[in-house]
Amino acid sequence: MKNFGLDIWANNNFIIEDGQVKLNYKSMPSLLQIAEEIRENDVRGPIILRFPHLIKKQIRSLYSHFDRAMEENSYEGRFNAVFPLKVNQFPYAVEAITSQGAQFNYGLEAGSKAELILAMSKTPSGANITVNGFKDKEMITLGFIAAQSGHNITITIEGLGELETIIEVASECNIKVPNIGVRVRLHSGGSGTWAKSGGMDAKFGLTSTEIIEAIALLREANLLENLTMVHFHIGSQMSDIAPLKKALREAGNIYAELRKMGAESLNSINIGGGLAVEYDQHRHAKSRNYSVEEFSSSVVFSLKDIMDAKSVPHPDIFTESGRFIVASHAVLITPVLELFTQDYQEKLINFKEENPPLVEELIELDKLLNTKNCIEYLHDALDHMESILTLFDLGYIDLQDRSNAEILVHNIIKRALYLKSSDPTIELELLQVKLQERYLINASIFQSLPDYWGLGQHFPVMPLHNLNSTPLRAASLWDITCDSDGEIGFDPDKPLYLHDVNLDEEDYFLGFFNVGAYQETLGMNHNLFTHPSEYTVNITDAGYTITNEVESKNILDILDSIGYDKKEILEKLKSDLLKSSFSTEQEKDDTLAKLQEFVSQNGYLRTTN
Ligand SMILES: *Cc1c(COP(=O)(O)O)cnc(C)c1O
Repeated sequence: MKNFGLDIWANNNFIIEDGQVKLNYKSMPSLLQIAEEIRENDVRGPIILRFPHLIKKQIRSLYSHFDRAMEENSYEGRFNAVFPLKVNQFPYAVEAITSQGAQFNYGLEAGSKAELILAMSKTPSGANITVNGFKDKEMITLGFIAAQSGHNITITIEGLGELETIIEVASECNIKVPNIGVRVRLHSGGSGTWAKSGGMDAKFGLTSTEIIEAIALLREANLLENLTMVHFHIGSQMSDIAPLKKALREAGNIYAELRKMGAESLNSINIGGGLAVEYDQHRHAKSRNYSVEEFSSSVVFSLKDIMDAKSVPHPDIFTESGRFIVASHAVLITPVLELFTQDYQEKLINFKEENPPLVEELIELDKLLNTKNCIEYLHDALDHMESILTLFDLGYIDLQDRSNAEILVHNIIKRALYLKSSDPTIELELLQVKLQERYLINASIFQSLPDYWGLGQHFPVMPLHNLNSTPLRAASLWDITCDSDGEIGFDPDKPLYLHDVNLDEEDYFLGFFNVGAYQETLGMNHNLFTHPSEYTVNITDAGYTITNEVESKNILDILDSIGYDKKEILEKLKSDLLKSSFSTEQEKDDTLAKLQEFVSQNGYLRTTN
């Protein structure tokens, strides 16, 4: 895994050059350079970088693949897409999505009242809004208000109760009625970790009996002409395309049947989200078995096939892909604060003019180790180590010789592990778990990678520099929360190797990639660590600009946000301090100033990194 699986997960967005990770776009800045520039302004702790060009790339990819598939299949409907706000509602993510999507008429999807208000205020005029999720009368009325305000809005009903409320609102107020969609409850389920949205026992959607009843209710209320959309969503991060094809056949046939039953305004099928992102860094563990090309052509082909067979005009196709659009746009950068077991560093070796023969042999083994001989040499080294320890106990060699031998043997083990990393023996796997290095990162996994904590979701991780040298340390990552779950353990099946670094002399930064979907709002303030400082980076031909800085909340503000009175807290701290006696007035002023300064910084660690 020399390139940390970049060829698997990075979609050509990043490349390694001059030992650093660089953006593979225009002026190609390195992530390290950007992070260092931000840190020059005394920013500490983890940072999130947003790259709007990567959002545009994904939007363009989605639209162009569907457009091409439609052209190839002589499909007569159009393609539309909306961004589901639940995937990332942060202001500068949404700003990037709406501005990059404007030329495509890219819209927004809302699943709650707050998201609907956001969609109503941020959707570019003419673009679509779709509304899913459970709704009360207020939320449905908001949908009417959106339609009245000129939005192109479709409210998808999740059950008959919601339809009854729509009919009620329509009869009570004389404003514009929004388009209506029905979410169908499929008998086919989804695939992947999140596949709970499809299938007979799904949380959402109408059964076939309920759909027939819905048509009758709409007809009776004179609202059948507002029924425009059939919707389904089979769950996020579909690993396999087969369940989608089944769902398409089922939903496509429902659509055609409804048209035949007189629902003549029906003109769209909304296939929800679920288009997967490749998160894995190891080829044997890839996250999905299809590409966006296959996805789009399967959708277009299936729908055309069904409609042609039933002589129904081709519907417009809507997607609500969220993860696919935004996952790649955000990179989390965390400094490493400490390595916990650095006692076996090569530079601590202190050879003598004349070393004991066994140590000389270890030096020789270390020098000549290669892929072919490494298992044999490893066994020799372990055997020599045994003998050296016995000689030490008997007083034949001294502490320096023993220390030198231990460092050499550790080095031989580490290198053997690395040389055999693609095909490790069971013995090596056991050794590697024992010898792993623990890297302490200045971040909270609960805040920044909640799906790792909650679902075991892997995110690509790699150092931003030192990439000219081979990483040899089997690594586990510890965060700075006081929670033993705040750890990404070393997994022999998907090993992560990092560099031996001396943090007194150099910085060491890790990047976590594909963190732009779901992680930010799912992130929690465990231990009161807050959303990292974030920056939007626009890359140009000549360089790049850093804008939209939002610094991580300071300590008083985070306390305030959970209901404490920050003024009261600060006053209490100050008055306690001022009651004490100081040796000089200067000492008092300095201490007070420190207190003031520290509470107005964010809670991540500062002095070290
Ligand atoms: C969550 C959700 C989406 C987005 O799914 P992704 O897997 O992120 O593409 C789309 N539509 C609905 C109805 C959803 O609930």
